[in-house]
Formats: sequence, structure tokens, C-alpha cells
Amino acid sequence: MQSKHIKPRSDALVFFGAAGDLAYKKIFPALQAMACRGGMDFPVIGVARSGTDLNQLLARAKASVTEYGGLDPAGFQVLASRLRCVSGDYGDPSTFEKLKAELGTARRPVHYLAIPPSLFANVVSQLHRSGCTQNARVVIEKPFGRDLESARELNRVLREVFPEEDIFRIDHYLGKEAVQNILYFRFANAFLEPILNRHYVENVQITMAENFGIKGRGKFYDETGIIRDVIQNHLLQVVSYLAMEPPSSTYAEAIRDEQAKVLRTVRPMDNDNMVRGQFRGYLDEPGVAKNSFMGTYAALRLWVDSWRWEGVPFFVRAGKSLAKTVTEVTIQFKQSPQVVFSEATPGVGNYVRFRLSPVVAIALGARAKRPGEGMSGVPVELSVVDGGRNGSAKPMDAYERLLGDAIAGDTTLFARQDVVDAAWAIVDPVIHSHSSLYPYEPGTWGPAEADRLVSGVGGWKNPVD
Ligand code: NDP
Repeated sequence: MQSKHIKPRSDALVFFGAAGDLAYKKIFPALQAMACRGGMDFPVIGVARSGTDLNQLLARAKASVTEYGGLDPAGFQVLASRLRCVSGDYGDPSTFEKLKAELGTARRPVHYLAIPPSLFANVVSQLHRSGCTQNARVVIEKPFGRDLESARELNRVLREVFPEEDIFRIDHYLGKEAVQNILYFRFANAFLEPILNRHYVENVQITMAENFGIKGRGKFYDETGIIRDVIQNHLLQVVSYLAMEPPSSTYAEAIRDEQAKVLRTVRPMDNDNMVRGQFRGYLDEPGVAKNSFMGTYAALRLWVDSWRWEGVPFFVRAGKSLAKTVTEVTIQFKQSPQVVFSEATPGVGNYVRFRLSPVVAIALGARAKRPGEGMSGVPVELSVVDGGRNGSAKPMDAYERLLGDAIAGDTTLFARQDVVDAAWAIVDPVIHSHSSLYPYEPGTWGPAEADRLVSGVGGWKNPVD
């Protein structure tokens, strides 16, 4: 994303956790893609705990890009020529002295902490002590805390060393092409924006469904649950893009200001507006407590107390082991008056649909006249599927985009602390309370009890096809 305020480019990328899972699945492929596009004019220093040398790191990088996206020989060669390795314990000052030496003449490094959050404080203070934080930026991975209080504490630790403008909190959802398109489509088309408000919109539904379970990550999941894993961060970011006021592009922080403003107007959650579920079989997963009360599904009815949205429910639901793997937003408009064509079936047509994954689509649901005599209609959908077609460029992966933005100093697509705080404030009351938990069968759309939330708007819009 383009910022109006040009900041100096970073001249080195350091990433901690170079031998870790995220580096393998996401970071090396993003770096290779960056090298392919010709954007890698800086050293890339992978930091791993003891025992990893440059040859091992190169082998891991090669295996990573081969498995995730494919090896590009020319791009990989550039990455390999830039890659350096520092290994050592993160608690040992000599590791950071080695890093400082490896940084050489670099004056503006980015430090990417792709490590468990419990290690952030230690690594940040060691970086500071060794003199590696001058003019530096820091990139951290979600989760940004476990609740409002711990998020603030994490921020306090970071702010002791880095100003907010140099802290880049990755919520990779914000880097996704399809999520960016919500913002673009809303404000680039004059026909839509005037009707996105309480006068025309009946309700908004956001569904993030996965047709698989927790893939052996029982310990992680049982400490996290669906609300912390995807709702507090990814889905509330989507809510903010759908509900925010138009940002003015004349200053750099406009988008994040509007996100923070709108999230502050979302009413804190309570148990009457939420239904939680757990798929049958979850308790048998390795690493999950036998009496676990953790939700693998949650459905929320959110109220945005703003002039624009007063009285319009935003339904957000997410779950594991559901019927499909799909993420979709539907904005349902109120039906037109029945006085002209009295046959129109309420609830059919009259919507905008954004499919965010697995394919990307934007669709307008309408009604058109059925051919033949009489004035009766059929629902039709006008849709554009997958921005990669029609000769447009291959979409950039979120991690490539976000790492490029961090190097360029553009914070727009990163979560600012007040946005993070506002999102935690919405879910904080329900993650600290004991609400009911309903079992559901894998392969379904979750517990039937969630239907009560949407009984006034004709039910859930389950994504089809
Ligand atoms: P890993 O558990 O793979 O840890 C990354 C690296 O951190 C490890 O390779 C290890 O280095 C080092 N490490 C782990 N535990 C310790 C410890 N106790 N002391 C010192 N070093 C340690 O994490 P991920 O790569 O999965 O995740 C990294 C970050 O990214 C986390 O904040 C996570 O929440 C976030 N994230 C991860 C995603 C994923 O898909 N993996 C998705 C989204 C966010 P070494 O191998 O050198 O010993």
C-alpha cells in the first residue's frame, strides 16, 4: 500500500526463528518471491538457536520454497546470495554481538521476531543492549497478547525500545489481496457507498469456516480457542474494513485511524449475543485436556453503535471441522417495497458478497425478470471470480507484501496498538466468562443453537458451491 509519507527504506532484514515452522511455511517462500520481483537489495540474516549454520539454513530454505510454491532457480539464487546465518541462544549476549557484526554497515535493520511471544521481551532487550535497535524496526507475529491486559503489557515492553511507528504487528489477513479488495471495492465504486448504512442494509454476515480440525496442534489450540485464534484479530479487522468511514488518503494513518474509531463503537460482547461450540472428537485430540471447555466454533452478533450502523446486526462466525473451507462476507440489503412486483421473494437477491477464500470473488445478488409473460423474477448473480484472471498480475502473497511494506516503513497494513486494544475490548468480556458450550458434529455448520442469533433475519447465509 502506498503511504504519502516516504520513510527511509530498511537496509537489512533480520529474522529470528529461522529454523521454525513459520519461517519454513511462509517466510522463505515470501523472500524468494521478493527476490524474483527484484526487490531484494539488502542482506537477509536468519537467526536460529545453537546448531544451525549457513549451509543448513540454505538447505532448509530450498526445501521450504520447493514445498510451498515451487523453487524459482533465479529467484532462489538471489536469496541464497543474500542469506546469512547467526546461531546462538537468545538469552546469550554473544549471539547479539555476532548479529551486530553480521549487520556490518547496515544502519536501518528490520528485526522480524518469528518466535513464540514468550521470547519477545528477552530478544527485544538483548537487541537493545547490543546496539542493534538504533533506527531499527521490529515486526512481531500474532498473537498480540491473550487479552486486553496482556496485550497492553506486551506493548509496554516493545515501547520501551521502539516508537509505535517502528512497530509492525503482522495480522497477515490485512495483507491479503481479497481483504484489501473490500476496502477498494467499497470506496472506489460510487454506487455502493451511499447505500452501505442502516437505511439500506438489513444485516452483514461474515463466515470463516474450515472443514478440518486442529491438525495435531492440540496444545496450542486448547490454550487459544476460536475467539483468540481468528475472531479477535482477522475477523474483527474485516468488520472494521466493512464498517469504517471513508479514510482520506491525504495522510498516512487515515485507514488505521478509521479502523480504531469504528472498533471503539462496537459494543463489548456478552453471552446473549454469542453461541460457542466444540466439535465432537475434539476432547480426544492429543494435547487437549479431557474436560476442555475451549470453543472450536463461535457465532457472534455484533452491534456497531455508530450513526451509520445503528440497529444493523453484524453476524460473525468461525469454526473448525465445519461443512466447507471458505471465508465469505454477505451484505444483505433490505428488500424493495412489494407494491410493484408483489411476487418478489423476500431474502432472495439484494446482496453484495465478497468471497475471501479459497477463491476470491465479488458478487452482486439481484433479481431479474423471468423470460416470458408476466412480471415474475428469478434471482441472478453478477460475479467476478479470482482477480488472477483477465491478464491481471499474479496476486502477491500476504507475507511478501507485508515484509516489503515493513522494509519500506509503511505501517498501513499492520495492526496499530489502539486497533489491537479496541478489538480485545470487544471480546474481553466473553473470553473471561464461562458461557455455554454446545457440541456439534464435524462436517456440519456448527451447533443448531447458533440459529437463534439469526432468527430475525432469515437464518445464516451458508456459502454455497
Ligand atoms: P516455532 O514453535 O516453530 O518456533 C520458532 C523458533 O523459535 C523455533 O524454531 C526455535 O528456534 C525458537 N524457539 C522456540 N521455543 C524456544 C524457546 N523456548 N527458547 C528459545 N527459542 C525457542 O514457532 P512458529 O514458527 O510456529 O511461530 C513463530 C511465531 O509466528 C509465533 O509468534 C506464532 O504465534 C506466529 N505464527 C505462526 C504461524 C504458523 O503457521 N506457524 C501462523 C501465524 C503466526 P530453533 O529451531 O532455532 O531452536
